[in-house]
Amino acid sequence: MSNIKELDKEYVAGTYARFPVEITHGKGSLVYDENGKEYIDMGSGIGVTAFGVADDEWQKAVTEQISKVQHMSNLYYTEPCAKLAELLCKKTGLKKVFFGNSGAEANECAIKVARKYAAEKKGADHYTIITLENSFHGRTLTTLSATGQDHYHELFQPLTPGFVHIDSSKHEELLPLVKSTKAAAIMIEIIQGEGGVLNTPKEFIEEAYRISQEEDVVLIIDEVQTGNGRSGEFYAYMNYGIKPDVVTTAKGLGGGLPIGAAILGERVENVLGFGDHGSTYGGNPVCSAGAVSVISRIDEDLLNDVKRKNKLVHDTLEGKKGILSISGMGLMIGIETEKKASDVVKACIERGVLCLTAKNKVRLLPALNIPDELLLKALNVISDICSE
Ligand SMILES: *Cc1c(COP(=O)(O)O)cnc(C)c1O
Repeated sequence: MSNIKELDKEYVAGTYARFPVEITHGKGSLVYDENGKEYIDMGSGIGVTAFGVADDEWQKAVTEQISKVQHMSNLYYTEPCAKLAELLCKKTGLKKVFFGNSGAEANECAIKVARKYAAEKKGADHYTIITLENSFHGRTLTTLSATGQDHYHELFQPLTPGFVHIDSSKHEELLPLVKSTKAAAIMIEIIQGEGGVLNTPKEFIEEAYRISQEEDVVLIIDEVQTGNGRSGEFYAYMNYGIKPDVVTTAKGLGGGLPIGAAILGERVENVLGFGDHGSTYGGNPVCSAGAVSVISRIDEDLLNDVKRKNKLVHDTLEGKKGILSISGMGLMIGIETEKKASDVVKACIERGVLCLTAKNKVRLLPALNIPDELLLKALNVISDICSE
């Protein structure tokens, strides 16, 4: 075992079950380990390196900003933060952005916005946030409470009160639940990522939107994983013709540097005032410059290409031996395999392909610009392993 693996095991908190691979560098959708072995990167750091590893344009944006000013407190204006906020608002039609450093922080902001909006408009007893069973919204205590999976909760009681979970196949139960809990907000993923790449039923998404409008309940869409082109639309909710009050995002937004955003629509754009919320690093100029380079490249052509690659995945894998089903959208893909997903992923590593799992599925979140040749090569490795 290399020194690095031993050091890590001894000194880094044991929260991750790491594969026995040390990644030293990469370019685009190829990464290399400590022995120089090459891998096709089908996980892109869990959907983070949107245009691949050490992408030229992103690197230029980030290094140029680093050489100007790497950080300024939010007491002053900086250009990348303002430009990024403008881009996000123009692309969504929403009004204002709060920047944090992660998906969990984006969701924390959304929850605070919803609670304050409801408290001011309807009274302090309107604090409940309805989320989906099997959802994932983050690891802070409050976003853990929002997360509808008991196994994440067990050892961390008491959690933040005021969260209830609903089965996404029971959209007819949503309105009664909104009324009985005096809900402040409904918060959903369009595709549950950590939950197993499960597409939330259209009926539920449409019902949540309808109720948000009619009952004046804040609709929060968690686009931390699905956002920023991943689904083949700029945000995944755009596949459904709805308009959320708050869109939260992170992961692919920064292209590899930590940044999260809560994008606020018209109803809630002015809910947060001076002192209501903040973050030392929020909107950091280097992270924002990286994000501007990512977001400004997500245009119609790129989105069409992401959709085309989704079709390529279906065409290549569907009906193949050992492959049971394919879920997701765009380049967020869940593959249900006859073999245990974790065994497929282990075998992939040996053959030079890095994949993820999500529950019982093999999960793929490659860079949005992965070349067809590498995508097909990786899919054939997966297909071969599944058929053996
Ligand atoms: C990853 C993820 C989060 C948490 O993001 P962090 O940056 O790890 O805090 C929240 N929601 C969804 C849907 C995610 O996929």
